[in-house]
Amino acid sequence: MIFQRRKAVSLNVNLLDLSNEFLMGSQLPNKIEKWALPEHIRHCFSIDGNCIQIGGLHADSPSDLVREAAYKIFLYPNPKMLHCLEELLACRDELAKLVGYESFAHRALKGTMAKTPETVMKFLKLLTAKLSDRTTKDFQMMRNMKNKVNSRYSELMPWDHPYFSGAVRAERYNIEPSLYSPYFSLGACMEGLNTLFSRLLGVSFQAEQPKAGEVWSEDVRKLAVVHEAEGLLGYIYCDFFHRPDKPHQDCHFTIRGGRLKQNREYQLPVVVLMLSLPHPSRNTPTLLTPAMMENLFHEMGHAMHSMLGRTRYQHVTGTRCSTDFAEVPSILMEYFATDYRVVNQFARHYQTGQPLPESMVSCLCESKRICGAADTQLQVFYAALDQVYHGKPQNKSSTEILQEIQERFYGLPYVPNTAWQLRFSHLIGYGAKYYSYLMSRAVASMVWRQCFLKDPFDRNMGERYRREMLAHGGAKEPMLMVKGMLQRSPTIEDFVDALVSDLNPSVQAS
Ligand SMILES: [Zn+2]
Repeated sequence: MIFQRRKAVSLNVNLLDLSNEFLMGSQLPNKIEKWALPEHIRHCFSIDGNCIQIGGLHADSPSDLVREAAYKIFLYPNPKMLHCLEELLACRDELAKLVGYESFAHRALKGTMAKTPETVMKFLKLLTAKLSDRTTKDFQMMRNMKNKVNSRYSELMPWDHPYFSGAVRAERYNIEPSLYSPYFSLGACMEGLNTLFSRLLGVSFQAEQPKAGEVWSEDVRKLAVVHEAEGLLGYIYCDFFHRPDKPHQDCHFTIRGGRLKQNREYQLPVVVLMLSLPHPSRNTPTLLTPAMMENLFHEMGHAMHSMLGRTRYQHVTGTRCSTDFAEVPSILMEYFATDYRVVNQFARHYQTGQPLPESMVSCLCESKRICGAADTQLQVFYAALDQVYHGKPQNKSSTEILQEIQERFYGLPYVPNTAWQLRFSHLIGYGAKYYSYLMSRAVASMVWRQCFLKDPFDRNMGERYRREMLAHGGAKEPMLMVKGMLQRSPTIEDFVDALVSDLNPSVQAS
């Protein structure tokens, strides 16, 4: 027993070091001597004496050669990193076995919606099968686009995917964010959220003056979240504006979790919602692009998960729940944010008061479906790779596994002498749970379709959503929450169908 405990402690210490080493190494640039690259593309990279440093994939570059060079150099395998990753995976496996699990994935998936690695793989395989025709078509569109601009035929390669999916999208629907943003002033968007939450849940926001020294920057706003009958539910600090020393990542985090105190009172939750929006100017309010508006709705979905949680303990409240359920409330908000009936409640031109035309909202929705299958398939490939790395150890190198999984789950060829897995830093934080986002999206899509598509302001559904999904945080088995909401137990086939139907042209409920 004591021996096992010591062993577990030393494995954990080892894992901390290996994780740090991997995280740092995954961000480091690769270097190559200057002469190895054709002269006319050298200026695209940072030059350091006789060397060229490549710190990313340059996926947006219109030059095929620049993208190809960046891909091959940035992903060139580093033996130390390969060793680090393989050590890390071996350590994780040993630790999981020491505490009685079949594999690291089995341990990581305990208490999640998926429950077992077998379910995750079934989900990923079925999704691949059902997307396959569409993925092929998507890649064909990108290939045609690539060959339209090139004089001689060339195959579609992994470094082409992000660039040409963007190009195909831009050719079909030229979405110019600056045409949308005058309709999405920050004030209008917050009003939209307020209207939505009051109609759906009987909850509204009330601005409150922070006390001296209460907030960490002058531009942080404090919102009291108030229920029409129950009164104050909690506080959200809105740290919305860009500051030079602020991380550029939109996020939501908890300052104080809700919990039932010993005197039976409820300790109210306090959270922060952090964005990086531009400051308003003297005569223009802060205007959001469609993507910023959707992020605001997304993060607000997390915040409301915390506000409406009513759990006994604070370590399982709100967003402190299973990883594959955590994004359900936030992704669900994205469906609201792109529904015309909701958008029409708040999107008004800040100067003329004109509503945003319905055709512009449908363009936005349709443009997201372009190449959607191929983009989803790329995520499926990453998720499958993460599962296999954390499953039963195999007698193969991590690169051999990558090659095999890429062939089965992606559709674009593996490029020799590259090791993309060494840049996959999510292996550390998500270990065996990278599939979570896809699964959360599937559930959010089912909830949207079944409960809110007919009427996005249906109060009964809002109440059911609060009672069945938001109230429990991580204190209830996630599949039971989903079952409570949908009033049936969805199967893996239902999950897959939901994701696939999101790629169909929209049929709005009338
Ligand atoms: Zn999120």
